[in-house]
Amino acid sequence: MSNRTLTMIKPDAMKNGYAGAILDMIIRDGFRIVALKQLQLTPERAGEFYAVHKARPFFGELVEYMSRGPIIAAILEKENAVTDFRKLIGATDPVKADEGTIRKKYAASVAENAVHGSDSDENAKIEGDFFFSALERY
Ligand code: GDP
Repeated sequence: MSNRTLTMIKPDAMKNGYAGAILDMIIRDGFRIVALKQLQLTPERAGEFYAVHKARPFFGELVEYMSRGPIIAAILEKENAVTDFRKLIGATDPVKADEGTIRKKYAASVAENAVHGSDSDENAKIEGDFFFSALERY
């Protein structure tokens, strides 16, 4: 099992000023930051990242949302990183997320849900490579 995952602090959380608090929760939960950057996705790059959702009715909304403003992308390291990080962020829909999770605290809706976390080791590697070169990892 891999020990890395990929997160994004999404445009809604950035705009609302939650980035610092979210990074604090991540570090306090025992994740080490391997790589981190702030950037804005173009609609094309956002569509590429979420290509798996292309056929979903909300794909257009998702691309608009994710390219609307800057994000922070980061590779995080911890034992069982993918599973533990999904626990820390909570369910996709903040209404269903457990108390104390990032999405419960900082997400507005199932569509605009503050953070991303990879859903498998395989995707964690693909998503880490999407944002970071080998030279940007420490
Ligand atoms: P995740 O792995 O928990 O992020 O959830 P999914 O892979 O199912 O969905 C990817 C992202 O698409 C979510 O994090 C939301 O930002 C967005 N999304 C999911 N469901 C909906 C929906 O019903 N409507 C809209 N507009 N966006 C959605």
